[in-house]
Amino acid sequence: AAKAAGRGKHCFYEASMHSEATDRQVLENDLRQALERQEMTIAYQPIVRAASEEISGFEALVRWNHPARGPISPDKFIGLAEECGMIGKIGEFVLRSAVAEAAQWPEQVRIAVNLSPIQFNDPHICDTIAAVLADFDFKPSRLELEITEGVFLADSDATAGTFARLKSLGVRLALDDFGTGYSSLGYLKNAPFDKIKIDQSFVRGAASTTKRNGAIIRAIVTLADSLDMDTTAEGVETHDDLFLIRELGVSQVQGYIFGKPMPAEEARELANSSRVEADGFQCIREPRQ
Ligand code: C2E
Ligand code: MG
Ligand code: MG
Ligand code: MG
Repeated sequence: AAKAAGRGKHCFYEASMHSEATDRQVLENDLRQALERQEMTIAYQPIVRAASEEISGFEALVRWNHPARGPISPDKFIGLAEECGMIGKIGEFVLRSAVAEAAQWPEQVRIAVNLSPIQFNDPHICDTIAAVLADFDFKPSRLELEITEGVFLADSDATAGTFARLKSLGVRLALDDFGTGYSSLGYLKNAPFDKIKIDQSFVRGAASTTKRNGAIIRAIVTLADSLDMDTTAEGVETHDDLFLIRELGVSQVQGYIFGKPMPAEEARELANSSRVEADGFQCIREPRQ
């Protein structure tokens, strides 16, 4: 009986592995055609100056509206895109669309674009970025590239070279999701970041849960200040957290309290209004993905 059960279990396991692999294969095939079928769009989430509540900029966040499955979260397909060699094309689509959009905003409003480590390591990345900036006559300092610590896993000489070339283009660099993953202070010592984005896991509920998150945020702010970097707190949802974040001296805030990722038309309107209040008109709406 034990043997039979074992065999049964074995078969079941294989069957589920098979369906998982097929599922992935199907999704991968769909992903390969998503761009040409125009299933990808970009949502823009406001980044707001903590003290004045002025719009500092927007982060471009890719959206995939799958014809059969509906919206698929980037957390579910960016990794797949990286593995199957699609991230370069998707990333360039996001960069180009976001810069085209931001070129229509007031001069002081920036655009932040996520750059996958795979894109970062592409030897042509600086040429691609320079070409997009030139095509839209876009001031480099208005573009902020969000990079995660994943870039530091690769060859360090090449990494340093890319950082130097990006810097000489004049774009801004932000270290995304700081405090998670492979965090090492050594990265901050050597890489020319203009901003640290404090990961949501330290921010969300910082005011209520324990004093520890507050202490960590305070330490990050002190570090960033002394390295002459800005800070953005990601994932601020409540007034209590906003209050604490302000008190801790974080320079910018990004989170549902000021607005969820929104379609380009709404972002354009907001960019022109230049100031946004916590829980203002755009926050009480339903989630817009
Ligand atoms: P990220 O770059 O850290 O982006 C912030 C994520 O946090 C976004 O999720 C945003 O919608 C979400 N968020 C912002 N404020 C709040 C809040 O107050 N509460 C909650 N619960 N969530 C909040 P999203 O759009 O699902 O993107 C997830 C991740 O996917 C991004 O994290 C980024 O790593 C990746 N991603 C998105 N678009 C792109 C892209 O164009 N290229 C690359 N390489 N990665 C992207
Ligand atoms: Mg980001
Ligand atoms: Mg982040
Ligand atoms: Mg993230």
